[in-house]
Amino acid sequence: MNNEIKLQIKETRQLNFIEEIIEKEKNNNSFSGVHTRFPPEPNGYLHIGHAKSICLNFGLAKKYNGKCNLRFDDTNPVAEDVEYVDSIKEDIRWLGFDWENRLFYASDYFQQLYEWAKVLIKKEKSFVCDLTADEVSRMRGTPAIPATPSPFRNRSVEENLNLFERMKNGEFPDGSKTLRAKIDLASPNMHMRDPVLYRILHASHHRTGNKWCIYPMYDFAHGQSDYIERITHSICTLEFEVHRPLYEWFLNAIGLNPPLPRQIEFARLNLSFTVMSKRKLMELVKGNYVNGWDDPRMPTICGLRHRGYTPESIRNFAERIGVAKRENTIDVSLLEFCIREDLNKKTNRIMGVLNPVKVIITNFPDNQTEELNAINNPEDASAGNRKVPFSKELFIERDDFMENPPNNYFRLSPGKEVRLRYAYYIKCNNIIKNPQTCEITEIHCTYDTESKGGKSADGRKVKGTIHWVSAKHAVECEVRLYDRLFKSENPEEGQDFKEDLNPDSLKIVKGYLEPSVKTAKVGENYQFERLGYFVVDKDTTTKNIVFNRTVSLKDVWSKTMKNK
Ligand code: ATP
Ligand code: MG
Repeated sequence: MNNEIKLQIKETRQLNFIEEIIEKEKNNNSFSGVHTRFPPEPNGYLHIGHAKSICLNFGLAKKYNGKCNLRFDDTNPVAEDVEYVDSIKEDIRWLGFDWENRLFYASDYFQQLYEWAKVLIKKEKSFVCDLTADEVSRMRGTPAIPATPSPFRNRSVEENLNLFERMKNGEFPDGSKTLRAKIDLASPNMHMRDPVLYRILHASHHRTGNKWCIYPMYDFAHGQSDYIERITHSICTLEFEVHRPLYEWFLNAIGLNPPLPRQIEFARLNLSFTVMSKRKLMELVKGNYVNGWDDPRMPTICGLRHRGYTPESIRNFAERIGVAKRENTIDVSLLEFCIREDLNKKTNRIMGVLNPVKVIITNFPDNQTEELNAINNPEDASAGNRKVPFSKELFIERDDFMENPPNNYFRLSPGKEVRLRYAYYIKCNNIIKNPQTCEITEIHCTYDTESKGGKSADGRKVKGTIHWVSAKHAVECEVRLYDRLFKSENPEEGQDFKEDLNPDSLKIVKGYLEPSVKTAKVGENYQFERLGYFVVDKDTTTKNIVFNRTVSLKDVWSKTMKNK
């Protein structure tokens, strides 16, 4: 593990800056509880960045005895779908959070938002504008040059009310009119230059059907939705900092009574070797670069679940990365560290061979099987023991044998001894090769009958211990070896992030596992000794059990990176 990651792993942490704000409120008596919300737009599946926001919002509510709502920000019917609503709910529950009876939709507030828009018209703070989107953007000016006023800016209240109602009634085509706020055309904050509140969109909404053909913009819906739900701390990512004056302007201009929600921005999560935007993830799914949103290589929550990640590991990760006010990129090795740490405590070990070569124990009786005792989890005594069958023909990993080893090679080689985990010492006496290819086909060994359990009777030591599986008892499995989806640390840097896809991100091999896996259930995590953590896949269409590799045992990547 590199030093940067070590730094990121703090066992006890200080208050994050949002907690500091809350503590300060408590000290100066301006505290009125904590009521947060997680406000996803149902236009895609949640990713690990969303998990950070979920843990933060639900976590703050829990810490301060408050509440956290789930609110779907569903103001754009064209991109949204119930498929996404359902997946988002499932993912939040799986992460271990509960919105109880507080499931809301911005679309629940469409009528109220419409009424508030009329309030702004009556206060001469908004107007119906006939400019096209192109015209508006041409007239926007630059931060130094004020915008050109819309020629419709001074329409009368009556005319605006009438036109707005007719917009609502569907009398005008899409894009022909908008409702805009009348704020400040010279503001250096471009969001304050008469932003659009409503647009015409003749589109069916997944909840309100065809009732509406005007839809509020995100900015107009968001703050008021927070107000309606009595949100105290409206937490969002940094890119919304420049929207904050507008957020506050709406609440004040409508004339809402305090307490008003307070918007607080934090830095979004960026992960190395990962793209983290729904749009890009959607591109990978739609272009079949991956097998769906829950492909185990995806940084989506369902992808991580499918890969074998646990909710605890993701919550721990979110806790460790903390909450910052400045953009940064977290090393993906930290996420991998968190899952290893959790699975190390929880998973049963089994032995399995993924790249087999046959070992024949020449002095072991034919047709005999011996049941050997193996520990399920050395980290957890309550996990107990199991029996592993041992017989004359075994498989070991091909790279646990070397015909001409260097001095520091402690695994199996001609004339040398090695320990078979939970079994015996074996010594290699002979090797058989395929005469054409020269590939080793059999390794002939003898075993020391006095070394049962891996200890010699005469105190003779061997350095190497390798895993193995009895050939005739082995269960053949399909093993999907997943690796990082992208080759470079920042896949978004280049022209097209898809060109950075790692062609070796999935390798499928046959595995030979000890027979105890016959009872393995979908979603169950295992450690394959010396190889990594694996999870039973939900795929039942293949004849063999399918295992996905969650993560290798060691952080092989940071080593190879250092060698670069
Ligand atoms: P994306 O940029 O990936 O498309 P988004 O911001 O459009 O995501 P939303 O559905 O609007 O997705 O996000 C819901 C909540 O999750 C928002 O409050 C947003 O700030 C937060 N969020 C989104 N991405 C991240 C991230 N990478 N890190 C932390 N929070 C995030
Ligand atoms: Mg968004």
